[in-house]
Amino acid sequence: MDNFIDLPSGDDLVNPVIPLRENFSEIRGAVRALCAKFPGSYWREKDQERGYPEEFVSALTAAGYLGALIPEQYGGSGLPISAASAILEEVHRAGCNGAACHAQMYMMGTVLRHGSPQQKQKFLPEIASGDLRLQAFGVTEPNTGSDTTRLRTLAIRDGNEYVVNGQKIWTSRAEYSDLLLLLARTTPLEETQSRREGLSVFLVDMRSVEGLEIRPIRTMINHATTELFFTDMRIPADSLIGEEGQGFSYILDGMNAERILIGSESIGDARFFIERATQYAKDRDIFGGPIGKNQGIQFPIARAYANMAAARLMVFKAAALFEAGEAAGPSANMAKLLAGDAAWEAADMCMQTFGGFGFAEEYDIERKFRESRLYQIAPISTNMILGYIGQHVLGLPRSY
Ligand SMILES: Cc1cc2nc3c(=O)[nH]c(=O)nc-3n(C[C@H](O)[C@H](O)[C@H](O)COP(=O)(O)OP(=O)(O)OC[C@H]3O[C@@H](n4cnc5c(N)ncnc54)[C@H](O)[C@@H]3O)c2cc1C
Repeated sequence: MDNFIDLPSGDDLVNPVIPLRENFSEIRGAVRALCAKFPGSYWREKDQERGYPEEFVSALTAAGYLGALIPEQYGGSGLPISAASAILEEVHRAGCNGAACHAQMYMMGTVLRHGSPQQKQKFLPEIASGDLRLQAFGVTEPNTGSDTTRLRTLAIRDGNEYVVNGQKIWTSRAEYSDLLLLLARTTPLEETQSRREGLSVFLVDMRSVEGLEIRPIRTMINHATTELFFTDMRIPADSLIGEEGQGFSYILDGMNAERILIGSESIGDARFFIERATQYAKDRDIFGGPIGKNQGIQFPIARAYANMAAARLMVFKAAALFEAGEAAGPSANMAKLLAGDAAWEAADMCMQTFGGFGFAEEYDIERKFRESRLYQIAPISTNMILGYIGQHVLGLPRSY
């Protein structure tokens, strides 16, 4: 392995090469068969009415895919992250959209890693069966955005309860989730030594709370995203996950899994675009031959393919490190960055290959084009990843 630069210790580039996991071809085949029942027409209809793809989510739940990462002792399949990554890659490769439910796969990780035995026993089996949905994640706030530690939502202890006041934005799937994983301040920022202190994570049962208002936000994609308003929302004290004040580190612990899985979706998107463009370039006959014989069309497809393949290796590597319990931060971040870029390059190439027809809804290119753009911004913006690599891997001065 190249070791061309003296990297800070702990960086996974200097770790020994970890073999890639199996390809999970059986799972991939089964996911493809499931997705074939949800063709473009299904997604176009949902997109037009901004409807939640309940039938698709139910089918994935019934097949056990959304409980893939939950250990068998809690009723899940106990699969490694590379299997979950294969599932989401195939979902996106098929033209479907895992964003409707991908969080159900990985958000339970916070409960699994930091919850009490009682919380795990109470929630994980029902999350594994899909009877309980935990797929809403309330972190981002309108005034603080990427600067997470400055968030202002306050949860103040009052006897056997916490009283929550504040606001979240972009809390996706809140209307289609029973539980909300909420990051709030339990100690005001001014009273802490470091801005990472004083944040706590709560598992809020949205079915039973008062003082919570959910307002949908209409966006350029069908993403069921919302704003949340908390007004004296009282939650039981045992909604707290782990220790009070340690919430930021718990959220960071879950980031690598999220980066790897969203990266896998972007790889799936890139493959969707490359496969569609390749087929179209062979079929579309203009100036007496297929457009794919022209280098102006063929080379962008080939380049998108090469970049997707390289990004996919980084996703595999991050997954392998994660599974081996090694430091996966740099690889997981690079996987998300490169996969998001590969998807966007492929999206743009595909639009160009389809020409005017790329704009017609019936080909699904414009819908996927819009959907794949999200992953340059959420769940983490590209600049934040570059900042992480620059500052934490290469030791450059901090910008934030
Ligand atoms: C459809 C959708 C769904 C989402 N779902 C969720 C969800 O379920 N839960 C949740 O908590 N959040 C969610 N988000 C929020 C998402 O994570 C944020 O939008 C994202 O983290 C960026 O925050 P921001 O929009 O406030 O941008 P800002 O933080 O305001 O940043 C704006 C731009 O400035 C750049 N920037 C800011 N600071 C720096 C700096 N120091 N150096 C260089 N560049 C900088 C950013 O990279 C970005 O490009 C969702 C967002 C969208 C659009």
